[in-house]
This record gives sequence, structure tokens and C-alpha cells, in this order.
Amino acid sequence: MDWLLTPGPVRLHPKALEALARPQLHHRTEPARALFLRARTLLKEAFGTQGEVLILTGSGTLAMEALVKNLFAPGERVLVPVYGKFSERFYEIALEAGLDVHRLDFPYGRVPGPEDVARKGYRGLLLVHSETSTGALADLPALARAFKAENPEGLVGADMVTSLLLKEVALEAFGVDAAASGSQKGLMCPPGLGFVALAPRALAALRPRGYYLDLSRELRAQREGESAWTPAINLVGAVAAVLEEVLPRLEAHLELKAWQNELLYGVGEALGLRPVPEVRSPAVAAFYLPEGVAYGAVKEAFARRKAVIAGGQGPLKGRIFRLSLMGHYDRYEALGVAALFREAFSD
Ligand code: PLP
Repeated sequence: MDWLLTPGPVRLHPKALEALARPQLHHRTEPARALFLRARTLLKEAFGTQGEVLILTGSGTLAMEALVKNLFAPGERVLVPVYGKFSERFYEIALEAGLDVHRLDFPYGRVPGPEDVARKGYRGLLLVHSETSTGALADLPALARAFKAENPEGLVGADMVTSLLLKEVALEAFGVDAAASGSQKGLMCPPGLGFVALAPRALAALRPRGYYLDLSRELRAQREGESAWTPAINLVGAVAAVLEEVLPRLEAHLELKAWQNELLYGVGEALGLRPVPEVRSPAVAAFYLPEGVAYGAVKEAFARRKAVIAGGQGPLKGRIFRLSLMGHYDRYEALGVAALFREAFSD
């Protein structure tokens, strides 16, 4: 078998595969409406919100763009700390949306601290919870608290693309008003769905923009189990099936994912590799390449063992490599991957 060790898409959950094998449903029928409503209820539980979760057909980036464009009007001041490829993407989306964007740069691998975002005069703060490009985890509750102490009317938007089902998330408890995620990471489903979670404060602040991206129209449709346009209903079935399986044992699942990622870090550190992030996300393990070793050679050593890994992005391209067990792997399979990792470096 092949070991898909990339930080998304990931190895699929068997419940997702089973759901995808079911006959096609037409989305304007009662069974499809019931499925859509069930998926939305499960997603609300996963995001930890009393608000709403909208299911969009597209990838995580679509969800990020929908979040930014429906929460902020052109010209509004937003603060965007940039500490990796995906926080850079939030910055680019905010610029393109015509916002007055203030960028704060951090070295890749670090995350902003509360003191960095405690600045007055902003309508919004955009953060990435788990920066997949560096493996770093931001402390969302502390950051949201510090920002809102200075901007009580401000809204916090978060990318939870690789924290949903990998790390505890809870919108209102974190002080996060809106979040974006996707199907192909912690949910262990194929790519193709983006999710926008809106806490009650964000719902009250919606300023619809765009056509396909108009979340008010989606909200009206999705409250009835419909979607404005043809949804990827097969993927909705896969997401519902995985959430039904994982949510009742979420604590054990998060513990397993954290253990697996630390197992990878343990192997890497024993091999003398230097981890990239200061604070580690459980979604991915990122290491600097040893002196004089090219990424291509590491990738090849894994490929000889039928394993697919990922390299660096942006300024970290050619400087790091990344491994992830966020897909469907049990404890024993993770131990197999750990052994394979050791072997790849003994070549
Ligand atoms: N945000 C984070 C943290 C990600 O890891 C990714 C994908 O790797 C994205 C956003 C973008 O998601 P997509 O590739 O589904 O558009």
C-alpha cells in the first residue's frame, strides 16, 4: 500500500469511502435535505458553535475568501499577522477584497503573541490556527482576547483548516466569530468542500458580497436543508458519516492525533533533525533539512518505501520537509510510519 503522509489531502476514513459508494442522491429531494441538515448539525458540534455552519462546494481557500468578503466591507481596517503560507493567503484575500489591511510579519515557524495583536482601531483580526506550512499552532483564545480588549466591536476570523478534528476548537469559547475549514484534512474526506462557521456575532454582522460567495443566500437555503447551487452532496454524505463516527469519541481521537504527531517529532529529533515550529500543531511535523541534504533526496528515500511526503512552501521551499498522520491511521500504522521514517534516513 501507499502511505499518504502529506498534510492534505489525506488517507480517507473508511466511513467516507463507504458513503461515497452509495448511489447518487438528487439534492432537491427529502433524503438529501435530511442529510444536508444532519451534516450541518454535526459540523456545528465540531466547530463548537451555537451559530451556523455553511457548506460550500470548493476548497478551504473558497471558505477563507467567503469569510473575509461577507464579514468586512471595503475600506475597513483589519489586522493580519503573517507567519506562514496560509496567513499570507489571508492577507492576499483581504487585500483583494479591498480592505485596509495592516500586515504584521513574523519569521516562519513562529506565531504572534497576544501583545502583537493588542492594537486599537481595527474592525477585524484574521488568524490561522494551525499554520500547515510551518507546523505552528497559534493560541487563538489568547489572541482573540487581547485583540478584543482593544477593539470590543471587532470580529476575529480564523482559518481552522488543519485544526478541525485535530485540536480542540470552539468558536464562542475561543472568542472567534467566524472560521473557515475544508473536507480534506482532519475530516479525512476527499477535497471538495469548504466550511464557513459563523458564531452569533458574525451572523449579526453579515455583509453579503459576491454571487456564488453570497453567504446570506446560502444561509436562507441551508437553513431548509437546501443549498443555493448544486452541492457536492456525495461529499456531504462522507463528511456526515465521518463526523458521526468521530464526534462521540472526539477526546480519544484528538489524543491519538497528538500522540501520532509527537511520535513523528520524537523520531525526527532522535535522528538529529531540527523541528520548524516553536509551538507545534498536531496536524503536521515539519523539520529543517540537514546541512547539505536536498529535499529531492529525502522525498526519494520516502518514495522508495511507497510514502508520499511534502516539502516547504514560500520562503521554506527547499529548506524543510513535512510529514503528517492527520489522515485515517491507527496507532500501529503510525508506528509503521515511524519505522519507515527512521529507515528513510538510514539510506
Ligand atoms: N489553510 C490551511 C491552514 C491549509 O493547510 C490549507 C491547505 O493546505 C488551506 C488553507 C487551503 O485550503 P485548500 O487547499 O483546500 O484551498
